[in-house]
Amino acid sequence: MTTPSVLIIGSGIVGSGFAYAAARRGVSMQMLSSLPVNSGGTATANSWAWINANTDNDKNYFDLRHASMQLWRRWMQTVPDLVATSAGGFVWDMDSEMLRTFAACHKGWGYPVELLSADAIAAKLPCLRDVPPLAAYVPTEMAVEPDDAVKALLAAAATQPEQRHVHSLMIDRDRVYGVMTDNGLYTADEVILASGNGTSKLLESVGVSFEMTPTTGLLVTTKPLPKFLPYLLTAPDYHVRQTGTGQLLIGGTFKHYGASGDGKSQQVAAASLVARVECALQCPTPLEIASFSLGWRVIPKGGRPKIGRIRRPDGDEISGLYVAVMHSGISNMAAVADHGMAEMLTGLPSQLLAPFRPVSGTAVARRKGIG
Ligand SMILES: Cc1cc2nc3c(=O)[nH]c(=O)nc-3n(C[C@H](O)[C@H](O)[C@H](O)COP(=O)(O)OP(=O)(O)OC[C@H]3O[C@@H](n4cnc5c(N)ncnc54)[C@H](O)[C@@H]3O)c2cc1C
Repeated sequence: MTTPSVLIIGSGIVGSGFAYAAARRGVSMQMLSSLPVNSGGTATANSWAWINANTDNDKNYFDLRHASMQLWRRWMQTVPDLVATSAGGFVWDMDSEMLRTFAACHKGWGYPVELLSADAIAAKLPCLRDVPPLAAYVPTEMAVEPDDAVKALLAAAATQPEQRHVHSLMIDRDRVYGVMTDNGLYTADEVILASGNGTSKLLESVGVSFEMTPTTGLLVTTKPLPKFLPYLLTAPDYHVRQTGTGQLLIGGTFKHYGASGDGKSQQVAAASLVARVECALQCPTPLEIASFSLGWRVIPKGGRPKIGRIRRPDGDEISGLYVAVMHSGISNMAAVADHGMAEMLTGLPSQLLAPFRPVSGTAVARRKGIG
């Protein structure tokens, strides 16, 4: 079997992961992206970037995320400058009964979760003023700085994206053979859509309806502080971690998928988040806002990742096209990229990815033999 040529659309964390997974296997690859690497417009650039397999997971999704955490660690040992900047996650954004249920279930699945009492929490987190009665602690959870992780993966893959906007996929019968851009046609044996919230529009060009339900998330970055918080904290009304440069990265409640509001209301929300954290933590210096961002989460309809070949409602598969679209893309990236690339090269389905296949909706007219 000859090795296929690969064209990756998107240079966020998912596209960069595929680039690295391809390079490791000696696959020749090109990458196109409408936005420059690490521009503020991607979900990746606006992510809290907690790598975890925590709560709210069915067993299939847990398996994917847990495998990905382990692969992240392996990649960190081989990719220069791919590093975790926080390690160990605390969660107490639910009542004690739910925490116990979550811990028992995930422990049974092999997740190294510990339940800590108030005393044990205070001993590990002397900076915490609001000590909860119970928290789940997972020592293997971590965070990366997403922009740095993208840079490190692309450098290790020895690739840089060309900045091109893709207008449409090119298809001949049920085989995608390339894409049309503002710079003309690019062809490849396999086109990988790591295009985040741009995916529905691209799939529409080949008659595939792919619904997404993106939501917004506000993150506030403070000015740098002396290092005092090595862990990730998820409380009921805030989550916070300290970045590699000493800044606090603060978000609101995870469960609240709120509306964006205007600039003024975002500013008010940002200030109140910072005030909340200042109240909850003993910080070494007063907190000052450096910036805040409103990111768009990449959420396929149904909430779970969509990974693999598209199957049309009549059962026909589109070849030459591989989709990788998901929320929690930072956590999932390593397993998705590694198993996805293996599926493309061997033709053998990955058991880990099988529960997350995309299926085309019915809506858009089917177009054959055109781009
Ligand atoms: C506020 C917030 C907090 C989050 N926190 C976490 C977290 O703690 N842990 C976690 O695991 N996940 C988290 N996520 C989710 C995670 O950040 C995303 O799932 C992930 O970044 C998606 O990466 P991506 O590469 O698929 O998409 P993106 O980063 O959005 O990249 C998409 C790429 O596709 C390109 N593109 C799109 N359309 C086209 C086109 N037509 N032509 C050419 N290029 C195109 C863009 O230019 C871009 O390069 C969070 C997200 C948000 C918004």
